[in-house]
Amino acid sequence: MRISTITNWAYAVTVVLTVLSGGAFILSAHSAVRERAAVETRQRLDELVDQLALAAEQTTEDARLFVMRGEERHLQAFRGAQGEERAREEAIKGLKSTDLSPQELFALRRLETDAEALDQIEEKAVADYGDGDSDGARQTLFGPEHERLQTDLLTSVQHFIDLVATRAADEFAGARARTDLWDNIAKSMLGLTAAVFIGVLYFVLKRRVATPLLRMTGIVNRLAKQDYDVEVLPDSRRDEIGEMNEAIQIFRDNGLERERLDAERRRDQKTKDHILQMMHRLQACQQHEELAEVVSLFAPRIFPHLAGQLYLMNSSRSALTSASQWRQPRRSHDILAPAECWGLRRGRPHVSDHSGGDVPCQHLEAGDDACICIPLSAQGDTVGLLYFEGADGGKAMESARLYIEIIAENIGLAIANLQLRDRLTHLAVRDPLTGLLNRRSLDDEMNRLRRDSLDRPSACLMVDIDHFKHFNDEFGHDAGDHVMRQVATLMTETAGKSGSVYRFGGEEFTIILPESTKDAGFGIAEKLRTEVEATPITYQGRPLGTVTVSIGIASTEDGKPAATLLQRADAALLRAKSEGRNITLIEGSGRSPNHRLAG
Ligand code: GH3
Ligand code: MG
Ligand code: MG
Repeated sequence: MRISTITNWAYAVTVVLTVLSGGAFILSAHSAVRERAAVETRQRLDELVDQLALAAEQTTEDARLFVMRGEERHLQAFRGAQGEERAREEAIKGLKSTDLSPQELFALRRLETDAEALDQIEEKAVADYGDGDSDGARQTLFGPEHERLQTDLLTSVQHFIDLVATRAADEFAGARARTDLWDNIAKSMLGLTAAVFIGVLYFVLKRRVATPLLRMTGIVNRLAKQDYDVEVLPDSRRDEIGEMNEAIQIFRDNGLERERLDAERRRDQKTKDHILQMMHRLQACQQHEELAEVVSLFAPRIFPHLAGQLYLMNSSRSALTSASQWRQPRRSHDILAPAECWGLRRGRPHVSDHSGGDVPCQHLEAGDDACICIPLSAQGDTVGLLYFEGADGGKAMESARLYIEIIAENIGLAIANLQLRDRLTHLAVRDPLTGLLNRRSLDDEMNRLRRDSLDRPSACLMVDIDHFKHFNDEFGHDAGDHVMRQVATLMTETAGKSGSVYRFGGEEFTIILPESTKDAGFGIAEKLRTEVEATPITYQGRPLGTVTVSIGIASTEDGKPAATLLQRADAALLRAKSEGRNITLIEGSGRSPNHRLAG
C-alpha cells in the first residue's frame, strides 16, 4: 500500500476518532448537567414540602393558640400561616409541571388532599370559635380527628419526600453511570486516536520511511561517487519508497552500463591508438627485420588475448619463414610451404578452429586454440602471412576480426613497400646486367674511403677482361653478356665478405677491399685471375673456351691518398695490359713473380 494511502487512511481514522471522542465528551458533559438538574429538583421539592409541613404545623399552632386564648393576633397569625401554606402548595403545584412520575403525582395529590383536609378542619374550628363554640373548637383542634389528619399529612409529606429522594437517587445514579460511560468512551477514543497516530507515525516514519531512506541515502552517496559496486536490494513494496528504490536501481544499472560502455570505448580507443602507432612505425621501417619487430611489439598490445606470428615469403616464393612471434603461439610451425595454409591457398582469412567448423591448415599442430591465417598481399602478390591463435574458443579472435584484417592489410602494404624500396634501391645501386654495384655506388664508397682512409688502409683491384672485343666479335654480344655475368659471379664469390665488387664500366670492374693491405688484395686477385682462366664458358650449350682478366692493385697504405686509389689501380691495370695481360700487378712494383702470361 502506498504511504500516501496509509497516511490518508490514518488521517481519516484519526479525525473520526477525534470527532467521536469529542461527541462522547459532550454527552458526558450533558449527563453531568442532567445529574445536577436532578439534584436541584430534589432539593427544591424537599425544601417546598418541608416548608409546607412547617407551614401546616404553624397553622395548627396558631389555630390552637387562637381557640385557647381568643386573641386577635393569633387569628391573624393563623391567617398568615394559612397564606404561607397556600403559597407553598401553589409552588408545589408549579413544580408538578416538571417530569414527576405517576407515583409521585399521586403522592403529591394525597399530600394536597391531606393538607386541604387539615386546613378545612382547622378553618371550621376557628369559625366555630368565632360563633362562640369555644369548647367544640378546642375539641376539634385537639381531638383525635385533627391528630389523625395531622399524622396523615406528615405521613404523606414523608412518603412524597421518600419517593422524590428515591427517584432523584435513581436519576443521579443513571446520570452518573451515563456520564461515566461517555467519559470512558471519550477517554478510550482519545487513547485510540493517540495510539493510531503514534502507530502510524512509527510505522510510516520509522519503518516505511526513515529506515529505507537512511539505507538509500548511503546508496545514493556511493553512487554519486561512481561506486557502482554498491548493492541495491530489491524492494517489492509498491509505495513511494519502493519506487525510489526502483529508480535508484535503474540509476545504478544505467551507471554500470555507462561505465561498461566507457571502458569499452576507452579500450577501443586505446586499441585504435596502438594500431595508428603501429601503422606509423610500419611506414617508417627500412628493413624487414624492423617491420617484424614493430609487429611483434604492437600486436600483443592491440590483441592482449591472442598469440601470433608474422611470416614472410622467401625470395623464391617456396616457403614462408617466421619473422617474429608474440605471446608464444603453440600450434603453427616456424616454416611453412604456401600450400600448407588454406588462407594462402584461397587468398582469404581462414579460421581453423578446434570444433572442426572448417578444415584446419596443415602447418598447424593439433590443439584446442582457435587459429586464423590472414594472407598478407599487396597488388595481387602474396608477401607473407599473419597468424593468430586464441585460447578462449575464438571469442577474442572473432571480436577482433575487423582490426586483425585492417592490420593485415597494412602489414601487407608495408612489406610490399619495403620490397618496392628494395627493388628501387637495387635498381639505383646495381648494374642490371651483372647485378654488381654500379659506378654510382663505387663513387659513394670512394667518398667514404676518403673520409676513413686514415684510420683503415684499404686495397683496390681494377679488373678488366682481356681482349673482350674479340670475344664479342667472335661469339656475339649476348655471349659476351653471359661472360660478363659469369666473371661477375666469380668476382663476388672470390671477394666474399672481404669486399665489394663494382662494375666500373664496360668490361672493367673494381673490387674494394676495406681494411685490407695490397698483399691481401694480391692474394684475392690472383685467386680470381686463376679461377677465371680455369672456368670454361658454355653459352646455350655451346662451349666457348675461356677468358682471362688483368688486374691492377693499389692501396691507401703508407699514407697514400684514397682520392687517387682508383687512378693508381687503373695505372697498375694498364701496366698489366701492356705487360701481356692475364697478369696481376701491384702499383709501384715490378712484374709479380706470381704472374702468368696470357696464352
Ligand atoms: P683489352 O685486352 O686491351 O682490354 O682489349 P679489349 O678488347 O677488351 O678492350 P677494348 O677496350 O678495345 O674493348 C672493350 C670491349 O668490351 C668493347 C665492347 O664491345 C666490349 N663491351 C663493353 N661493354 C660490354 C657489354 O656490356 N657487353 C658486351 N657483350 N660487350 C661489352
Ligand atoms: Mg678488355
Ligand atoms: Mg676495357
